[in-house]
Amino acid sequence: MLIDSHAHLFFKDFKNDLDDVLKRAKDAGVEYIICPGTDLPTSIASVELAEKYPFIYAAVGFHPHDASKLDDKSLSEIEKLSHHPKVVAIGEIGLDYHYDFSPRPKQIEAFKSQIELAQKRDLPIIIHSREAEDDVISILENQIKKNPDWRKSLAKNYDRYPTPKGVFHCFPGDSKLAWKVINMGFYVSLTGPVTYGNKPNKPNSMIDVATNVSAEHILLETDCPYLTPAPFRGKRNEPAYVKYIAEKIAELQHLSVNDIARASSFAVYNLFGIGKYPDPVFSYTIRNSLYLNITLRCNADCVFCDRKGEAIVKGNNLKITKEPTADEVIKAISDPRRYDEIVFCGFGEPTIRFDLMKEVSRWIKANGGKVRLNTDGHGNLINHRNIIPEMKGLIDSISISLNSTDPVQYGKLMRLDGEKYFPAMVEFAKECVKNNFDVTMTMVDLANVNEEQVRAFVEKEIGAKFKNRPLF
Ligand code: SF4
Ligand SMILES: [Zn+2]
Repeated sequence: MLIDSHAHLFFKDFKNDLDDVLKRAKDAGVEYIICPGTDLPTSIASVELAEKYPFIYAAVGFHPHDASKLDDKSLSEIEKLSHHPKVVAIGEIGLDYHYDFSPRPKQIEAFKSQIELAQKRDLPIIIHSREAEDDVISILENQIKKNPDWRKSLAKNYDRYPTPKGVFHCFPGDSKLAWKVINMGFYVSLTGPVTYGNKPNKPNSMIDVATNVSAEHILLETDCPYLTPAPFRGKRNEPAYVKYIAEKIAELQHLSVNDIARASSFAVYNLFGIGKYPDPVFSYTIRNSLYLNITLRCNADCVFCDRKGEAIVKGNNLKITKEPTADEVIKAISDPRRYDEIVFCGFGEPTIRFDLMKEVSRWIKANGGKVRLNTDGHGNLINHRNIIPEMKGLIDSISISLNSTDPVQYGKLMRLDGEKYFPAMVEFAKECVKNNFDVTMTMVDLANVNEEQVRAFVEKEIGAKFKNRPLF
């Protein structure tokens, strides 16, 4: 399921063949389309489209190009439109200092007054920013400070990011800027240029974002009729082509198109309330691997772990309410040879259910599959014995979270006794290497951990492989 989160279907480009365009979108797997207005007539047209087609939603607002046309009267018309049940956002609004079609003071005024409208209506915003990022961000910061309750109704118990307030459409910066706005409560949206490749002396910032920002923060859009992706660059763009954006991001993230579609659809659900909250699952695929989430329990409580939060990974809801039995797990796997590997993982420590792990692994091995264990490396302490001999022949590879090479920092990150658990984890890793398991030590990409130091420790001291994994 794909969502084109930004399509201007009201433009005359689509006047003659909109139904064909929408049929092609459906055939390409596009489930929903959001159509943002750019002034009053196009906002009305967006709402009319949303009324006519169940899978189209509207956003209403004045684009910075049209900011000089916004007055009190048209603003109150936009407000009236925003009460329509299919209006999901105020947009697109923002600043465009590239074209300066409206004078900058007028653009700023229109941007502020429309953010205030969104805040009053508790709606998210769709932001257009071109060569104006500093001003856009400082205006947003001020407005958020002024109205701290904006979107607070969406707050959950364990949020790692501020409640979602909007999206930067056609994201204009690199991954560093992307993480900055993500930490302010915004999503980033990618479009055609992500497929254009890097120019020799000018790196493509959208490729940087698509590579270095995790999929859960990225929305997909065409911005049609503009910004047509390769291989149709130069022709009219249309919602069906959003699949080329998804394919490119999947390639850059080493994920499947399904993973990108699922993750970005969940982002759209979170931000605009479109679609459906995913049901909890204990087995799910990422790329061509099957992941088994056999428990949510863990002996640690990592600061970066979302186990007690929503526990959504690439749009999969891992918040299981009941731990599966071995029979249920085996039934879910069905044929182990269908997958590259089957991974015990999840938001929980699988060795807490070591007996179930062994039973399922035995069955997987007997049926031609490969098994990986993702663990915190505390399995011996958890089970009060050396479990490594019992894993022989059942587990092929093991990924252990290393997190830090300093016991004190390790303890702080995992919120447990580092002096006790750090050496136990290192010992566990060394024993696994000695017993010929294929061992990888992983580290979450945190600013205050020295990656090179950790890598050297893993490769020289433990003799395992090292992998840096991005923070969600
Ligand atoms: S060890 Fe894994 S499951 Fe446990 S708290 Fe840390 S990140 Fe979460
Ligand atoms: Zn647009």
